[in-house]
Amino acid sequence: MQTKIIPDLLSTPTGREADDILRSCVHCGFCTATCPTYQLLGDELDGPRGRIYLIKEMMESNQATATTLDHLDRCLSCRACETTCPSGVAYAHLAEIGKTIAEQKVKRPFKQRVLRGLLIRILPYRARFSFFLALGQRFKPLLPEKLQKKIPARQQTPSFPTTQHQRKVLLIEGCVQPAMSPEIDIASAGLLDRLGIETMRTQMAQCCGAVENHLNAKEAGLNRVRANIDAWLPFLDLGVEAIISTASACALEIKEYGYLLRLDPDYADKAARISNATKDIAEILHGEDLSPFKLTEPKRIAFHAPCTLQHGQKLNGVVESILTHIGYELSPVQDAHLCCGSAGSYSILQPELAEQLRDHKLAALTTGQPELIATANIGCLHHMQSGTDLSVQHWLTLLMPHEY
Ligand code: SF4
Ligand code: SF4
Repeated sequence: MQTKIIPDLLSTPTGREADDILRSCVHCGFCTATCPTYQLLGDELDGPRGRIYLIKEMMESNQATATTLDHLDRCLSCRACETTCPSGVAYAHLAEIGKTIAEQKVKRPFKQRVLRGLLIRILPYRARFSFFLALGQRFKPLLPEKLQKKIPARQQTPSFPTTQHQRKVLLIEGCVQPAMSPEIDIASAGLLDRLGIETMRTQMAQCCGAVENHLNAKEAGLNRVRANIDAWLPFLDLGVEAIISTASACALEIKEYGYLLRLDPDYADKAARISNATKDIAEILHGEDLSPFKLTEPKRIAFHAPCTLQHGQKLNGVVESILTHIGYELSPVQDAHLCCGSAGSYSILQPELAEQLRDHKLAALTTGQPELIATANIGCLHHMQSGTDLSVQHWLTLLMPHEY
């Protein structure tokens, strides 16, 4: 597409990047058909092609309105459009640039600013989040029903395996998962231990930076990314074979470190090294002999592939092949490419849309009458669980039930 971006923007690296991405779009509209927000709202401006037009218009006119920001905010950053696009348009990077510019021009309503500020000040901090979660668990019966459904029951935390092995990985535990579902990382460490791989951890880093980066607290987010890099690089020097995450959203974010710090002369190379060493745990397990974990009796389940796994990391089918290999029968899921509505903090910032997407997803997942639903990301897990009585579990805990 032709562009006429204003010179002030075009003289910046992000302006040039946006221009390149805009020019790679040929307007075909294939992406629109697979966009969850377009499917729900039926408005071209709530689909990828419409949002691309809005960003182009804003960068050419140097103007944005509250409506521009609303349409950009309703995007889930699910990247289904990137999977569909035949021209390889890097929509997610363009959308981030577009949102940053729109936020500089349009002030959000007071309530939204407060909510976003609270999310940025609580979610990335493990201790703060654990405190508020414990408070919520204690006073759960007094809370509104919708909120009650989002608060998981208190968990007994089993201990991590302590056996040392020559093969080692560094596990990034993240911010909310250790408090909400500690059993996931314990199961993963147990699995790896059985396979002769030691799980190392570090207290020096917590959130991967996704919360701040996606809520446009860019400076805080990038500083967190730099601190993580400083904390994790020594492990690579010690010879860990990979940095892993059991949350597909965190794995994707860390794989993006090289992109996020590409313009930082002090960190660009280090960030690329961290990204190249990062793997979703499914990538590690896929190459291992998993026959000790085979089921004695087949079990019918439905698997929801998070967008960060299938569209972001492009690992569609990997977890599914592991689960079927060890004996799970996967029930068919219609429109498996669609987001469940969790999308990081989206379920808090856009609750009505998030609930509709969740209910559509749950209907698609349960048509084959599975015994339970499995997924690969903590956010999707708890968001879906808030809408169904059927158990929603992380797929790793299906491989290591009640062992650690
Ligand atoms: S990222 Fe998802 S919600 Fe956003 S435009 Fe693309 S397909 Fe639609
Ligand atoms: S983003 Fe890709 S699929 Fe969508 S209109 Fe542009 S070229 Fe077509």
